[in-house]
Amino acid sequence: MSTIPRTQDRIGANLHSILSAIKSASSPYQRPVRLVAVSKLFPPEDIQAAYDAGQRHFGENYIQELAGKASALPNDIKWHFIGALQSNKCKALAEKVPNLWCVETVDSRKKAHLLEAGTVAGGREESLRVFIQVNTSGEERMPLEYDDDVNPV
Ligand SMILES: *Cc1c(COP(=O)(O)O)cnc(C)c1O
Repeated sequence: MSTIPRTQDRIGANLHSILSAIKSASSPYQRPVRLVAVSKLFPPEDIQAAYDAGQRHFGENYIQELAGKASALPNDIKWHFIGALQSNKCKALAEKVPNLWCVETVDSRKKAHLLEAGTVAGGREESLRVFIQVNTSGEERMPLEYDDDVNPV
C-alpha cells in the first residue's frame, strides 16, 4: 500500500481546501463567488478528478484543446474560454463546443458577431455568456491581440 496520495485524491483535496479558503474569505460579503478551474494543459483525467470532486466550471485557452476535452468529458461541464481570442477562431469556438458557458473576453464587435454566427451554426439552445472588455484608458494593445476592428464602440 502506498502512502503517496493518488493524483485524483490530491486534486480533490486541493479543490476542497481552495473552496474552503474562498468561503471564509468571501463570507463577510454575502456575494456568491465562483471558482473557475483553469484546466488548460492538464489532461482530461485530471479534469475528471476535479469534476468527481464537484467542480463544474473550467477555463481553457486553446480552441482545439477545449473542443477535444469537451467531447471527451461530461457534458454538464461549464466551459469558459479565457484569455485572448482571435477573430478567426470565434465561430468555430461557439459552434464546436455546445457546453461552452462563457467567453472571457470579447473585445470587438466583430468577435461578438462571429460568436453569434457560431451559436446559430451549432444550434445552441442557450445564449452564450460573454464578458466585454472595454479599453477605457486608450492603452495600446498587445500585438498578439491585434485585430482589425479594435474597440468599435
Ligand atoms: C493560463 C491562464 C490563467 C491561469 O494561469 P496559471 O498558469 O494557472 O497561473 C489565467 N488566465 C488566463 C487568460 C490564462 O490563459
